[in-house]
Amino acid sequence: MVTEPVVTQKRIPLLDLQTQHSQIREEVLAAVTRVIDSQKFILGAELEAFEREIADYCETAFAVGCASGTDALILALMAAGVTPGDQVITTSYSFFATAGAIAHLGAIPVFADVDPTTFNIDPVRAAEAVARSPRARALIAVHLYGGSADMKPLCAIAGERGLVLIEDAAQAIGAEYRGRRAGGIGQIGCFSFYPSKNLSAYGEGGLLTTQDAQIAARLRALRVHGSTEKYVHQWVGINSRLDALQAAVLRVKLRHLDAWTERRQGNARLYQELLAKAPVDLPRPAPYQTRHVFNQFVIRTRERDAVRHHMASHGVGTEVYYPMPLHLQPCFSSLGYSSGDFPVSEALACETLALPIYPELSEDDIAYVSGLLTERRT
Ligand SMILES: *Cc1c(COP(=O)(O)O)cnc(C)c1O
Repeated sequence: MVTEPVVTQKRIPLLDLQTQHSQIREEVLAAVTRVIDSQKFILGAELEAFEREIADYCETAFAVGCASGTDALILALMAAGVTPGDQVITTSYSFFATAGAIAHLGAIPVFADVDPTTFNIDPVRAAEAVARSPRARALIAVHLYGGSADMKPLCAIAGERGLVLIEDAAQAIGAEYRGRRAGGIGQIGCFSFYPSKNLSAYGEGGLLTTQDAQIAARLRALRVHGSTEKYVHQWVGINSRLDALQAAVLRVKLRHLDAWTERRQGNARLYQELLAKAPVDLPRPAPYQTRHVFNQFVIRTRERDAVRHHMASHGVGTEVYYPMPLHLQPCFSSLGYSSGDFPVSEALACETLALPIYPELSEDDIAYVSGLLTERRT
């Protein structure tokens, strides 16, 4: 009699936060207890300490906490003086919030296609978009998946027209462009601490960075209804603060961030090695010096659905970032874009697939995922 071999199937989700939590559980509980015992939940010492530490980490003069990455973008645009009818140039290939924040202020997103190597806004296309936008006020560059956009030409384009250059660094904390940290290259940097980001809160959170004291003061006012003096409102702001509880958790996690980032980079290197012969396109290095922090490791394949299904049936989680480019979103149909306008973004939307890359993956895990992709070659 032949017995079936017992195969215990591996399970590798796209992201697993449990292992990380178990490593820092005691530190986090102590920090959270400290805040609860203080009964000081709004602004205050815990947030100020975090803002100082993260400004140092991002090598910026100032950091201002807020309630989410989306709010960070909205506050940045408000601080940039964006008003209804203004135009804001940005990428057609990002998470929705990048464009949603622009529309929230009554401004008009003007999209530009991305570079096929970096998946970030193509400076040549950005310059063309600026040229056809008489009411352009700001430019938002996104550092997608943890890799920096090409900031030098973007700074030049923004400088020429007097646009405020905003970095959407939600996926890119600690990333660098030619030795400079994300968030400190343009005038304002926007970060998110959503659970899927490299530095994640135990809930929602966001933050802004800037080198400019005046912008920092304005952001601090805008997050508390535009008030600089109690009950006096210089601007119409919003209520968007980073909770003291989240700040306390983030202070603990920030101390581990570099070690976690190095693990992500190591995982990416191992994928590059093990997938060298797999029938998929691998992430390629940017043609300029960067420190990529691999919030995502994204491959390209024309057989995406089949590959996803194959991975899922072997216990491996994957995700599609992003299946619909921004210019084709139904809510922006009145802007008049159509299919074919931004061919690179549209191709990426059909072909990209994110693999698990979180720091706690083992070499065995990466080998297992890579094996599944390689064996599909027929
Ligand atoms: C996550 C993300 C945001 C929004 O951050 P939230 O904290 O979820 O509001 C904005 N832009 C990009 C590129 C993101 O990845």
